[in-house]
Amino acid sequence: MNTQPERNIGRGGLTLSQIGRIFAEAYHGLEREQPCPSIGVEYYRFVGINHTVRLREGRLLVRLSDLFRRAPAPVMEALASILLAKLYRQEVPRAARAAYREFSNSPEMRRKDRASRRKRGRKLLAGPEGDRYDLTLLFDELNREYFKGRLPAVRLGWSLRKSRRILGHFDPSHRSITLSRWLDHPRVPEVVVRYVLFHEMLHAKLLARSFFDVRNPHSRQFREEEQTFRGHEEARNWIRDCS
Ligand SMILES: [Zn+2]
Repeated sequence: MNTQPERNIGRGGLTLSQIGRIFAEAYHGLEREQPCPSIGVEYYRFVGINHTVRLREGRLLVRLSDLFRRAPAPVMEALASILLAKLYRQEVPRAARAAYREFSNSPEMRRKDRASRRKRGRKLLAGPEGDRYDLTLLFDELNREYFKGRLPAVRLGWSLRKSRRILGHFDPSHRSITLSRWLDHPRVPEVVVRYVLFHEMLHAKLLARSFFDVRNPHSRQFREEEQTFRGHEEARNWIRDCS
């Protein structure tokens, strides 16, 4: 079915509380036993089209791509049921998937997506696939192992310069992690690359918490969680001796 999705753009413009109600409706559609948590909705300047939903302290926090500001209600409804189904590990309704795709794959939205990636992704210098290590693969593994698969996607890339001093960097405004290309080499053990990536992923995770302190990004909490990384000592020693 083609309902000329482009013509829908520009009509929407739902308020955040309207969107909140749409998410509450979608929650009820899941027929869970627990009552619907309170819901917070905001637009976020992701790189490209991206949306996240997570549970924090009993609250549902919804972050929508700001490129969806004018998405019409049916698209928002579809998106709500997709995000909630994923969050609660239920099957995504096919109709919702189709309605969402129809909108997000429209030429207009694809153009916006590309423009946003160009503009906001500028700081990322090279893709995640290195000569030796694939950051996407490592990210997914670490996400499963240490974050229960719940860390929202982050843009990943290798730096162009081979810095020995700065091995990794998390950029909150782009939600991106850059690893120094110096690490993308057979002489560097995988545990070291994983450790540096894990460290930056922890920044990505803890940034979302209320106790995050900009002046002290390596708080006690951070250090404690970092210790849970298997191979922590080995990786730190290697870095101390070799970089
Ligand atoms: Zn750090």
